[in-house]
Amino acid sequence: MILILAPNTQTDSEEFRQLEEFLNRMPNIRHRVHQEVGVQQVLTEVYLIGDTASLSLEDMAILPGVERVVRISEEYRVLGRHRDADRASWFEYNGVRFGQDNLNIFAGLCAVNTPEHVELMMKALQENGQVCTRMGAYKPRTSPYSFQGHGKDCLPYVFELAGKYGIKVIAMEITHETHVEEIRAALEQTGNPTGVMLQIGTRNTQNFELLKYVGRQREFPVLLKRGFGITLEESLNAAEYLASEGNRNVVFGLRGMKTNMGDPHRNFVDFAHVPVVKRLTRMPVCIDPSHSVGTRDSAPDGILDVLHVTAQGVISGANMILIDFHPEPAKALVDGPQALTLDELPYFLEDVAIAREAYEKRQALAQRNR
Ligand code: PEP
Ligand code: MN
Repeated sequence: MILILAPNTQTDSEEFRQLEEFLNRMPNIRHRVHQEVGVQQVLTEVYLIGDTASLSLEDMAILPGVERVVRISEEYRVLGRHRDADRASWFEYNGVRFGQDNLNIFAGLCAVNTPEHVELMMKALQENGQVCTRMGAYKPRTSPYSFQGHGKDCLPYVFELAGKYGIKVIAMEITHETHVEEIRAALEQTGNPTGVMLQIGTRNTQNFELLKYVGRQREFPVLLKRGFGITLEESLNAAEYLASEGNRNVVFGLRGMKTNMGDPHRNFVDFAHVPVVKRLTRMPVCIDPSHSVGTRDSAPDGILDVLHVTAQGVISGANMILIDFHPEPAKALVDGPQALTLDELPYFLEDVAIAREAYEKRQALAQRNR
């Protein structure tokens, strides 16, 4: 059960003290306070855990400070929808809105290689009106002999160049908790010129200790990728680990699944699950066409498979796109064969805009036919 308090209820107020006193006296119920400090207001929710089945919504709704009460199922307690369309399905970070109702594009380098390439990428993004990117510093690789990423050494110039070109959010994978500290230190050292969304990759979706660590910090939002060989439910529970520790600013990423069906693509594209995740949870949903498809093959219609699947995700309401670009794919240290080139960026953005417009028209049509 969740008690949603009136906006701007302070935890040091008399009302809140009375509420806590009451909750502390309840047998077999533990509670946990979650505060969301926004630009306009502070939202406080109190999660009741334990024997809540016998509590009545009416009785709880008249407790001091309580505005609304939501009964929740066991699953995805924090991030789930629970038939309550009113709870926020968006958050804002560094001036960028992440919601189930909008679309952000994160085009960038799978792995940082040189400052020159980073600068070319950021410059092209700015020229095309983009404020987000992806930059890999820590790369989880299948082989221990493959390039592992430049790690913390590249962070200062990546962040400085991001600031120079007006990039507000960089999606950056981390594979260990020390990476979060390194990112925080490099941001401080460079004067916080940009923001970082911590990416947890498909190989770490169920790294529970990493999830708990990342969930305990509230400074950076998180992009959690679906595990490529586990059920959707297991991946959604992984996202719930982040939220249950306190960080609800989570985007859920679809990146294709491993099957043994002899896929023509690197992974089996799962973007039909965009609306499913939006129905089950309040998380914005990201698609990663690059790691799903993994090639630059195109169909007889002249459209790259990567662009086809991007459009499929966007026309179903995806909220974020993570996509590999590279100024010189032949020199990319990781995943060059799937990267788009900088001169393809305007074309890619236009193609995405067509699909987004089609989605918005479909949504309006559905509303008219309710
Ligand atoms: C990536 O985005 O660079 C990546 C390694 O993705 P995934 O975890 O989906 O394989
Ligand atoms: Mn990659």
